[in-house]
Amino acid sequence: MTDCIFCKIVSRELPAEIIGEDENFICFLDIKPIAKGHALIVPKKHYKDILEFPTDMELDFFAFLQKMTKKIIAAVGAHGYNIGMNNGAAAGQVIFHQHTHIIPRFNDDGLVSWPSKELSPEEIAEIKQQILNVH
Ligand code: 5GP
Ligand code: ZN
Repeated sequence: MTDCIFCKIVSRELPAEIIGEDENFICFLDIKPIAKGHALIVPKKHYKDILEFPTDMELDFFAFLQKMTKKIIAAVGAHGYNIGMNNGAAAGQVIFHQHTHIIPRFNDDGLVSWPSKELSPEEIAEIKQQILNVH
């Protein structure tokens, strides 16, 4: 896609700190990292979000994700990591070329996890039924 920043990183029209790549994916450091070693896995072909991502690429995706995560964690000495994906503007997606965040975590790094909501068992059961009703 011509105006897509991540397509331009894939084609080397824009620079990035690339730390790995294979036939289908590229991995580079996030320009505004949440933590030391925060990286993005990006498919070389343009897909808007995870629902456009071809399911027959999932095995290759997970293999590359595991390989890059192990390398990053070892390099920065992280104690844990978050694997994240924002899909849609409401979920915080800013770049509409599907990508997965690898975020190294450190004991007491001060990053807060998502807040939880208080829902009654009835409300949870109602949501379950709404989801089961979609075919
Ligand atoms: P999103 O919110 O769409 O899931 O995340 C987009 C991520 O891409 C952000 O963490 C942002 O810092 C990163 N990003 C945006 N533009 C660039 C860029 O030009 N180069 C690199 N390396 N990362 C970028
Ligand atoms: Zn793109």
